[in-house]
Amino acid sequence: MTISIQNIIPVIHATIHGHTNEGVVNHVSIDSRSLLNAEGTLFFALKGSRNNGHHYIPQLLEQGVRFFVVSEMPQDTKNATFFVVSDTLEALQKLAAYYRTLFSFPVIGITGSNGKTIIKEWLNFLLSPDYNIVRSPKSYNSQVGVPLSILGMNEMHNFGIFEAGISTVNEMDKLEEIIRPSIGILSNIGSAHDEGFENTSQKALEKWKLFKHSEVVIFKKDKTFENLLALNTQEKFTWSFEKNDNASVWVTTHESSVGTELTFYHQNSNLSVIIPFTDKASIENTIHCVMVLLYFKYPVDTIQKRVAALYPVEMRLKVKNGVNNTSLIDDSYSSDYQSLKIALDFLEHQKLHTNKTIILSDIYQSGLPVTDLYHRVSQLIIANKINRVFTIGEVISGYKHLFPNAIGFSSTNDFLNQMEHLHFQNETILVKGARDFQFEKIVTALEEKTHETVLEINLNALSNNLNYFKSKLKPQTKMMVMVKAFGYGNGGFEIAKLLEHHKVDYLGVAFADEGIELKTLGIELPIIVMNPESTAFEAMIQNKLEPEIYSIRGLQSFIKILESKEIYHYPIHIKFDTGMHRLGFEQNNMLELLAILKNTSCVKIASILSHLACSDDRNETEFTLHQIQLFENLSTQLITTLQINPIRHILNSSGISNFPEAQYNMVRLGVGLYGISSNEEEQKYLENVGTLKSIISQIRTIEAGESVGYNRRFKASSKTKIATIPIGYADGISRHWGYERGYVTINGKKAPIVGSICMDMLMVNCTNIECKEGQEVVIFGENPSIKYMAKELQTISYEIMTSISKRVKRVFYRE
Ligand SMILES: *Cc1c(COP(=O)(O)O)cnc(C)c1O
Repeated sequence: MTISIQNIIPVIHATIHGHTNEGVVNHVSIDSRSLLNAEGTLFFALKGSRNNGHHYIPQLLEQGVRFFVVSEMPQDTKNATFFVVSDTLEALQKLAAYYRTLFSFPVIGITGSNGKTIIKEWLNFLLSPDYNIVRSPKSYNSQVGVPLSILGMNEMHNFGIFEAGISTVNEMDKLEEIIRPSIGILSNIGSAHDEGFENTSQKALEKWKLFKHSEVVIFKKDKTFENLLALNTQEKFTWSFEKNDNASVWVTTHESSVGTELTFYHQNSNLSVIIPFTDKASIENTIHCVMVLLYFKYPVDTIQKRVAALYPVEMRLKVKNGVNNTSLIDDSYSSDYQSLKIALDFLEHQKLHTNKTIILSDIYQSGLPVTDLYHRVSQLIIANKINRVFTIGEVISGYKHLFPNAIGFSSTNDFLNQMEHLHFQNETILVKGARDFQFEKIVTALEEKTHETVLEINLNALSNNLNYFKSKLKPQTKMMVMVKAFGYGNGGFEIAKLLEHHKVDYLGVAFADEGIELKTLGIELPIIVMNPESTAFEAMIQNKLEPEIYSIRGLQSFIKILESKEIYHYPIHIKFDTGMHRLGFEQNNMLELLAILKNTSCVKIASILSHLACSDDRNETEFTLHQIQLFENLSTQLITTLQINPIRHILNSSGISNFPEAQYNMVRLGVGLYGISSNEEEQKYLENVGTLKSIISQIRTIEAGESVGYNRRFKASSKTKIATIPIGYADGISRHWGYERGYVTINGKKAPIVGSICMDMLMVNCTNIECKEGQEVVIFGENPSIKYMAKELQTISYEIMTSISKRVKRVFYRE
């Protein structure tokens, strides 16, 4: 993309402030982390209800960005040029809509409740032999994602495939203007985002708006819906499983041992394809893709050949632990310029190791001449400060001189044969290759071999939950996030890193060790240690950790150490006990506390805090209000006597929800970040963060009267199918969850845990569930939820989360 500044100004209706109104931009960015070439970047400072791009401007100025679209002028402008608009998102959308008008090739627009991304990826695969396709990267289908996708178009493309997702009324008009699809696909109308609409027909009609200017729309025949559409004039190319529906195409399905055979009856001819899937979603997604090929009048044998090669789409990037303390980012199914950009962004966000390596195959479908393409790839790789590059494939290896420390291989096997000499260690490795290079072999070879149980952490869900709580705060209220106990069992460093990006104000840990680990790994946010032991004070000072001080003894010993080191104004946090009766000063300590504090300049009171005992319990409101009142009194005495102006904070997660008037200047978010609320209404807005998964090791069938496990605590009353799963109480699954009280989910169905849970294994009854050995099993996540388990086990979610043992591998991913 290349647009001159002169062209942009009238499109986005900006007033210009600053240095110049000349120049061209060739990259649009909304995220400070994904800078390519700073000079040619136009940064849109988007302002969400929770995050504000304007905050990143000083840092971007440092990095050399010169063009900004803003809704408020920053204080320091460093000779850069600012386009001031009233709404930066609208400006981005207008720019994309304008940019779209510069291209006239066919564009497919996909919307619907499910399947959009898979249909898009599959169509890309099916059509790519004949076109240079530009498509939405990953699932960029939102009000922000769609314009960014469109801005990825360039003069070499001759076909576009974009997805559009909406969550409420009146959003589609904007996306329609930006995508302007000539061919529409409505994948289906499910229940996703129902809350944003009055009823299903309203939702369906809103989605249909994407096709306002399309020549044809492909969808599954639906009578009620078509009645609503009676007046619309687009050609409708429909399909149905029912012969007498009079759809344009009738489809039958037949399940076999290798997958599903689909037969399409269309205009007196028919066509059969076999796909390696049997689930309803994959079948419908395939049908939508075949409908496009039929619409384009592809020959039967071409359709059969291409559809037979469809593959499962990996929708997200995963970080895995690799050999020799490496981290692997597995993106082994696609290779195109857009997705390379995303993968490099992801790599940059992770910042797990300083050294970064990429293993990269030939790149397809860029729409650019090969030499141009690899020059751009080289720019991208250099801008992302990649230390080593391994190129695999004849084409890319011909350009390896463009990359830093590059070694070229002609094939994946060639690389695998030499892998042991390549010394992978202490680095993050991005593995990115086109499907036919079979890079999954490389991932398997580099992956650390552990047992198959993993706790998957959804980083998007964490961001969502953080933003939800941010939205409950007054704009000036600061936020501290508790990452004690290894981020409530979910991972300390990775989560701290994410919180740092989101610019929270403080992190909280329980013990000095936890804080030292985070600081050692490079976390820069201030960290408060909640239960500092005097023996750890020295180490805390060395690592710039800030202690919570809760007793005269602790205060005196901390001051003594500071005096001996001649350190002044060291930040500390004074804790009052207002009713929890765990840690903290009380009224009767006040005189002594004041006397000590008046006589020292070694410490500075950065904040005053207290902790609520029952902010989640509506029956104890009076007690909580009393705690808040007492905190007000005690903290005020300190503030007025010492003439100081510290931060005050008392609310934990449920306090934020139930006592918003007591926000003071900061809150301490804990369990809510991890997706748990004590309030049912609020729970709906939080997303599940952790999913504990394992696999089936073995399946057997036992007869009536036979038993399972230690002490024969389960006896079958009839023929029963039993699956063994390699996770037990040593992994943190309570034995009380056995004896058919608890269950796991296999294939979306409940399989009760039978008999006693063993140390490293448990057995489930899967009699009525279709499953096979090696198949995935969900121990907790969406279903059963941690909250449900906690209730059944008469404990609290905190205990379930923090019990998962360290031997369970944590895998972090972003959607
Ligand atoms: C753990 C903790 C919190 C967070 O509590 P949640 O209920 O998880 O939100 C807040 N303050 C202190 C002092 C804590 O120890």
